[in-house]
Amino acid sequence: MIERPDAMQRVRRTHTEALLAQLRDAGPLSRAELIRLTGLSRTTLFDIIGDLITRGMVVEREPEATGQRGRGRPSTTVSLNPSAGWIIGIDLARTTITVIISTLSHDILARGTRAIAVSANAARRADAAAALIDDLVAEHQVDLRALQAIGIGLPGLIAGPGDAVSSKSAQQISDRLRQRFDAAVVTDNNSRLAALAESTWGATRDVHDAVYVLWSEGVGGGLIVDGQLVRGAHGAAGEIGHVTVDPHGDPCPCGGQGCLELLIRPAALVEQCRQRGVPVADTAGLVAQAVAGEPVVREVVEHAATLLGQVLSGTVVQFDPGKIAVGGPLAQGGDIVLDRVRATIAHLAIPHHLRGIEVVPARFGDEGGAMGAVAAALRLTAADSLLPAAPG
Ligand SMILES: [Zn+2]
Repeated sequence: MIERPDAMQRVRRTHTEALLAQLRDAGPLSRAELIRLTGLSRTTLFDIIGDLITRGMVVEREPEATGQRGRGRPSTTVSLNPSAGWIIGIDLARTTITVIISTLSHDILARGTRAIAVSANAARRADAAAALIDDLVAEHQVDLRALQAIGIGLPGLIAGPGDAVSSKSAQQISDRLRQRFDAAVVTDNNSRLAALAESTWGATRDVHDAVYVLWSEGVGGGLIVDGQLVRGAHGAAGEIGHVTVDPHGDPCPCGGQGCLELLIRPAALVEQCRQRGVPVADTAGLVAQAVAGEPVVREVVEHAATLLGQVLSGTVVQFDPGKIAVGGPLAQGGDIVLDRVRATIAHLAIPHHLRGIEVVPARFGDEGGAMGAVAAALRLTAADSLLPAAPG
């Protein structure tokens, strides 16, 4: 005989799932933050949390001693039970594999990186990621039976919801790791995942709508709209590096012409400096000399920042984000770079109120893609799978 939960129980279950989903997506939160985010009444929320703590699904955490003063006593937070399960985030970039193992309560348990040949095929890339995971699991004694989900960041166009991926190699990598670890897998573009990492834990955590740009040899990015990462209909959302800046410019491997990426990637800027008689060794040298005020280097970098600002001003007008985060080595140039981006947006963006938009350095460096893969995998973990079993 099937027992139907009555209406009150169904409502209670919905509230509990909403609360667990918030803790899954955002990590440890105070009760006050949970009331704001779930819209539940104080009485209901305290009651549900008490129940989940009794069942061991949720734990209380004492405030960390941060040394911050003047804001009163920091609140106790609650989080999912760290021992309830694991999440693995992988960034399979062209020459580096990064793996991060996290608890469901957003505590990083292990992290590792390994070089991979740019020529390695999909099977070798997946196997190299699996080998790195095996090493981290052994070293940190992770019980993979409690693995909930794996997130995978890859370069290039990744389309479709859930595990649907566009390229054949991306599909192979996804399938191989799903079979190897018997876990749900979500795949996305690694720059876009870095946008999700910034939105979950980083520079844009405090806004619902944000733009992230990665300014490195690849210029990519991601759009967060109403707290959600936007993939687009063809997996191309956020591909800011392939906006045409010069319609008569050089052909780009993407099939376009005069793309932003060709004009502002660090290697191109290093070359421009050399052509103008100023030797620059590499990207780090480029940033250092720009910060030090070498006139030609600074002019080259500022011109590139102006081009980025021009493209971003279009994004700002179309999406009206609360904040823009810029990652990658050029953002290390700080205000030398970001002030020019800010000034260009201020000059071009209409309407007026968009001109003062905050442009900030991203929090995450090379780990952004893997952290975003953790965030995407956390969101893949169904809230109802986090629920305690119904009492006997
Ligand atoms: Zn292009």
